[in-house]
Amino acid sequence: MNKIVLSSFWVLLLPALTASNRGCRTFFLPHYDPNSPPAYTENTKAVAKETAMDASNPQSPMPQTERQWKQKLTRQQYYVLRQKGTERPFTGKYDHFFEEGVYKCAGCGAEIFSSDAKYNSGCGWPAFSAPADKEAVAERRDTTLGMVRTEIYCPKCGGHLGHVFNDGPAPTGQRYCINSAALDFEKGDKTPEK
Ligand code: FE
Repeated sequence: MNKIVLSSFWVLLLPALTASNRGCRTFFLPHYDPNSPPAYTENTKAVAKETAMDASNPQSPMPQTERQWKQKLTRQQYYVLRQKGTERPFTGKYDHFFEEGVYKCAGCGAEIFSSDAKYNSGCGWPAFSAPADKEAVAERRDTTLGMVRTEIYCPKCGGHLGHVFNDGPAPTGQRYCINSAALDFEKGDKTPEK
């Protein structure tokens, strides 16, 4: 009897651990469900405060309030960029998308990645081996959901993009695992403007 219980335990746990080690979030993280979009909660205010724009800059064309962000973004974009949500794996429009061009932040239009760095990680989200340039993305420690990860966000608007892991291809060895909803693709010139 004990053997049966023990076997069942490992059968259930091993796939979850494997997915976690690969940086995949299939088992642990909440995902956007298009049939049941998340509600705008009070937590939104805390997230918005943390990623707040420079409201003192009158030249900034970007939204200054959460109301403006909701008007600018689709519900799914808002969920990912402003609420640090994660889209369901293998559902994003750029997961298996390999045209030549540049990927911009869906929140503010800043150029984030070039198609030159895009590759198929098999993890279910768009993956890049490097950002467009050193200043194109910002990083911060993310300890949510019982894991220690490195969050990637847009330095211009503060929008959440995804996470970076150290299991990418050479020469960088990095995998920028990014939500499709956080990106807008622009076909053509692969070299982002500096
Ligand atoms: Fe942005």
